[in-house]
Amino acid sequence: MLITSILIIRPRNFSKAKVNKIEHIGIAVANLQDAISVYEKLLNTSCYKTEAVESEGVQTAFFQVGESKIELLQGTTEESPITKFISKKGQGIHHIAFDVTDIHFEIERLKSEGFVVLNEVPKMGADNKLVAFLHPSSSNGVLVELCQEKS
Ligand code: ZN
Repeated sequence: MLITSILIIRPRNFSKAKVNKIEHIGIAVANLQDAISVYEKLLNTSCYKTEAVESEGVQTAFFQVGESKIELLQGTTEESPITKFISKKGQGIHHIAFDVTDIHFEIERLKSEGFVVLNEVPKMGADNKLVAFLHPSSSNGVLVELCQEKS
């Protein structure tokens, strides 16, 4: 018997849309210095940068892993989303960040697809990036960060 399968490709009007790669995975940590030591051993490479993002109340540390990065985040205030995340869920994977070509375009595209965009105006994140977040409720429980290199 001949079995044929039909691949249905949904037409998309978003020809400009481009999600390029996993830019980084964000990991919430209780103590940044301790976590840097752990990840330096794990990845056998040095942390190449630490950076504070005052607006988010976080201190970050970055590791390059191939074309992607690991971002360690420690909350520096009680109100920091990272401090709250850790007190609720403990340490662990906090978000996945996708590199996009045009963040404004992606925000509009994802809104029209029904995703809940937490900040419709991109804000300045760590590592010279414009960033926007999608609420986990619209992406299967995963906090998604869109990021575009700021030129
Ligand atoms: Zn991030």
